[in-house]
Amino acid sequence: MNSPIKKSKVRKPQAIDLNEFELGERKDFFLHLYEFATGAPVRVPFIVARGKLPGPVLGITAALHGNELNGIKIIQNLLEDLDLETLRGTLVCAPVVNVPGFDRGQRYFSDGLDLNNYFPGKFNGQPAEQYARSFVSTFLPPIDYLVDIHTASQGRLNTLYVRVDREAEKANKMAKLFNPEIILQSKGGDGTLRNAAKKKGIPSITVEAGNPNVLQGKMVFDGENGVKNIMRDLEMIEGDIKLTRKPVICKSSSWIRTTGGGLLEIKFGLGDKINKKQLLAYTIDPFGNILQEYFAPYAGIVIGRAAYPVAIPGTRFCHLGKIEEKL
Ligand SMILES: [Zn+2]
Repeated sequence: MNSPIKKSKVRKPQAIDLNEFELGERKDFFLHLYEFATGAPVRVPFIVARGKLPGPVLGITAALHGNELNGIKIIQNLLEDLDLETLRGTLVCAPVVNVPGFDRGQRYFSDGLDLNNYFPGKFNGQPAEQYARSFVSTFLPPIDYLVDIHTASQGRLNTLYVRVDREAEKANKMAKLFNPEIILQSKGGDGTLRNAAKKKGIPSITVEAGNPNVLQGKMVFDGENGVKNIMRDLEMIEGDIKLTRKPVICKSSSWIRTTGGGLLEIKFGLGDKINKKQLLAYTIDPFGNILQEYFAPYAGIVIGRAAYPVAIPGTRFCHLGKIEEKL
């Protein structure tokens, strides 16, 4: 007699094989990369759009943090405009990398971990590590370049900026082509998807496009142009590269934190250039009395800021980039 117990299927993520996709066609599909507690598959969406003509393979990812939405729309708008008859090469897109996070409207993975600290993952590791491993073994093998699109984290607001290792020549060129407000030097020797790609020799950048939990038209518009510039440079599509600003290059950055509690009155805007010792903010008590003033510890540019003005000691309120000195 056959056992009524079904042998559980071993989940074996397979690399996306571009040979299975027709030239000149777009395919939208889900892949079983993980499982719910019921044993039902967590299905992750992918898009493969192959041009009629040969060329490089550009990978684009979004919503690696589940509440970072602008990148999803950037991918959708980009694909809508694309003529596969004239496209050289292929786009492989993962519009929602962190499906469990997206489903709950939250940044983190199901286990409360930040997925972007656990790449390239581990077969028998923690939940986030197993998911990360499934994702990279599916998505990274076919791609030649990576644009990983994020936004600020919960409770914070961002400019449009790019994190890149500027010593990596091809990646640095991608960062400039993206036409961001700021380029931030970031070596990336960590558990990010960008670093996992870099270790495989894939030039990659992390784009930080605006704010979480919202779709921002201007960020989506600028992001689409940024990706198109990279595609134009790689000769995947025709047309002139559109650079509308000169990005400010930052060699490093840090978050300025409060050292006391209070309601923050912020005196700077996103993208503002700041002088050393300039007043950044002060805190007031519930009666309106000023408690403490905060000054810039160094000259720089505002990359991001807190959205919510209530502070306890240690609240991050200003992400200040250190501007690269001109040689
Ligand atoms: Zn993110």
